[in-house]
Amino acid sequence: MARPVQYNNTIKYQGIPEGYMGEGYMATSLEKVVGLARKNSLWPLPFATSCCGIEFMATMGSHYDLGRFGAERVGFSPRQCDLLMVMGTIAKKMGPVLRQVYLQMAEPRWVMAVGACASSGGIFDSYSVLQGIDQIIPVDVYVPGCPPRPEGILDGILKVQELVHNESLRRRHSAEYKSLLEGYGID
Ligand code: SF4
Repeated sequence: MARPVQYNNTIKYQGIPEGYMGEGYMATSLEKVVGLARKNSLWPLPFATSCCGIEFMATMGSHYDLGRFGAERVGFSPRQCDLLMVMGTIAKKMGPVLRQVYLQMAEPRWVMAVGACASSGGIFDSYSVLQGIDQIIPVDVYVPGCPPRPEGILDGILKVQELVHNESLRRRHSAEYKSLLEGYGID
C-alpha cells in the first residue's frame, strides 16, 4: 500500500537580507552575466581600406593572435557582427558606404577607429578625405598611431571589452543614447 505523502509544514521562510531587495537588483546581476558573455564573444567586422588593415592582419596572425581575447570570429556580414573596426583612410566617397554598414549592424554595436586616418584623417588633410569617421558615425574607442602596432590594436580591443563588460543593459534605450544617434541623423 502506498504511503501517504508527508508534507513538512514547519518550514519557516527567512526574509531577504537587507540590501538585496529593491529596484534593479535582478537587472544588475543579469547585466554582469550578459556583459561577461558579450565581452568574450565579440564578432569584429574589419572595414579595412589601406595600410592599417595590414597591421590588423598581423594582429590576427599567430604571433599576436586576437583569438586569445574572445574575438577571433571575424565576420564580413554586418548583420552578424557587433564590433565595427575601421582601419585606413576613409575617402568622403566611402563615407556613405561605411555609414550603411554601421546601420546594418544590430544593436548593441561598438565602433573602433584604428589609426590616425580613421580617427582624424591622419596626414591626409585634403578635400577628398573624411577627417575622422566620427563625423558620420559614433566611435567608442580610438587607437592612435600611423600605423598603430598590433599591440595598440590589441589594447583597443581590451578597451572595447571593458566598455562592453560595464555597459548597462538600459544604455541603448536611454535618452542620452538616442540623442547621440539623433546627432548623427540616425533614428
Ligand atoms: S593611419 Fe597611417 S598607416 Fe594607417 S591608414 Fe593612415 S596612413 Fe596608413
